[in-house]
Amino acid sequence: MKVNIDPTSGFCFGVDFTIKAAETELGKDGSLYSLGQIVHNKEEMDRLREKGLEVIDHEKLNNSRGIKVLVRAHGEPPSTYETATKNNIELVDTTCPIVKKLQERIRKAFTEINEVNGQLVIYGKKDHPEVVGLMGQTDDSAILIEGLNDLDKIDFQRPIRLFSQTTKSTEIYLQIVEEIKMRSDNFAKGGNYFVPKNTICKQVSGRVPLLKKFCRDNEVIVFVSGKNSSNGKYLYSICKSVNPKSYHVSSPSEIDVKWFSGISRVGISGATSTPKWLMDKVVDEIESMK
Ligand code: SF4
Repeated sequence: MKVNIDPTSGFCFGVDFTIKAAETELGKDGSLYSLGQIVHNKEEMDRLREKGLEVIDHEKLNNSRGIKVLVRAHGEPPSTYETATKNNIELVDTTCPIVKKLQERIRKAFTEINEVNGQLVIYGKKDHPEVVGLMGQTDDSAILIEGLNDLDKIDFQRPIRLFSQTTKSTEIYLQIVEEIKMRSDNFAKGGNYFVPKNTICKQVSGRVPLLKKFCRDNEVIVFVSGKNSSNGKYLYSICKSVNPKSYHVSSPSEIDVKWFSGISRVGISGATSTPKWLMDKVVDEIESMK
């Protein structure tokens, strides 16, 4: 049985940058606070905790003074920066440049759309940290939609600007665009009435065709990621749709030898939050079952 690792899997550059920055700070000081989990991956978080990382929440940030806190790749709303200034907290800001740019675009579009009595709509997952940061650019007054079922929240008689969380599904985003176009066409007053901005990260959307091919080329897929990773759930659903013999695990201990009976090619893939060392451990576990 041959075990292949998907060459496009593993950390995206945003997460990679955050982890390297955390390791640099931990190397200097031996301790560091992180506002929320850096990655939705328990094994990687355990590794960083052993090096001195402590995860805190916004309540602890509000009650702290003079500490050093890492802002992860997902970014933060403006209120976090205000709290840090007020409480003399040093931020190690590792917001992914793509997310930072998206925050700026949303802030600008929000000002513009307000001038014409329009609405800013964000396609994303409620309470996801990136979405909290994006909503914060609009004083939390953007309309958040999690899918097609939420479109009734939009007033189709007023101008609409649509943005997306960077890790959402392109397929559903495009369906949302078509549906909004259909419903708002009756009221359109010129080409600027509904303006969709596809802000899904290319590190995520660009992987989909390659992942589909990888899933076709292997008989069984073991997809490694935290079970609460939004990007992990999305990419795993792609694997399952192409290859029904796809299994989602968060650690090598969840692997079942029965999956590989009579199989000659196994593929290992992972989310943008899955460390390479964890996929290597999964390979070792499967190799030991031969
Ligand atoms: S998925 Fe893209 S936008 Fe999100 S952190 Fe990674 S590189 Fe940045």
